[in-house]
Amino acid sequence: MKPRSPRFEHHDWHEVKEMAAANMVVLIPAATVEQHGPHLPCDVDNLIVQHICDEAAKRRPDLSTVAPLIPFGFNEHNMGFPGCIHIQEHTLIDMYADVAMSFVRMGFRKVLFINGHGSNPSFLQIASRKVVNNSEAHVSTVNWWSFIPDVIKKHRETKLGGMAHACELETSMYLHICPERVRMERAVADIAAKWSEQVWVDLESCGPVAMIDDWSRVNATGVEGDPMKSTAEKGRIWSEATIERLISFMDDYRQYPVKPRRNFNFVPTDPGGPKA
Ligand SMILES: [Zn+2]
Repeated sequence: MKPRSPRFEHHDWHEVKEMAAANMVVLIPAATVEQHGPHLPCDVDNLIVQHICDEAAKRRPDLSTVAPLIPFGFNEHNMGFPGCIHIQEHTLIDMYADVAMSFVRMGFRKVLFINGHGSNPSFLQIASRKVVNNSEAHVSTVNWWSFIPDVIKKHRETKLGGMAHACELETSMYLHICPERVRMERAVADIAAKWSEQVWVDLESCGPVAMIDDWSRVNATGVEGDPMKSTAEKGRIWSEATIERLISFMDDYRQYPVKPRRNFNFVPTDPGGPKA
């Protein structure tokens, strides 16, 4: 038998039907095209989620298949910098939901968005809820870095609150996946001063208040963090830990049953009762 490609779209429809019948998990990588400071290309978020999904599916071809990347995300707050492509919120929600629902209509029952862009989660969650509310499938969403807060903490050199964008984490990942495109000689550290004990943004964990602002008001480099602390070895460790935990979750996810819905409301049966 020929080796199965990790990419969904490399298969014919008979194979797709077999994958759905085998209850494979559909991984949908979703990220964005966005500036990442002077030292990284604009494809950081897309590159990382594609790598994680491809590697997970390559290592467990029996378990998962990788949908085509959804390369555009929500970027209105970052449009003050060149290099960003922005999709409006309703378009984005509809697109995520339509893609997930297409897999559900093929017979897949386990869909998982792997997100790589910090401003996508609220839209991915709404889209996932829409599909779950209108189907008999599970649709879930995770930010790749949320799999590994303990591993990030163990190896980071930047203090908490200083790892958010084009930072030690993202730059290390790029150095691991595609070092030839990183220009470390152009890297600058830029960590915003903390102005409240309740507000900080960090890929290990965020403060309690989700402060919504426009980046151009607070930042002039396009960096939030210290990329000078990045190494390819840290990227390898963080990447491997993410892939390992993603595979472990997918094993659980596939086993978790889609249970029948129940209705605990009062159901009127009196034919003479008031008409709706
Ligand atoms: Zn990023």
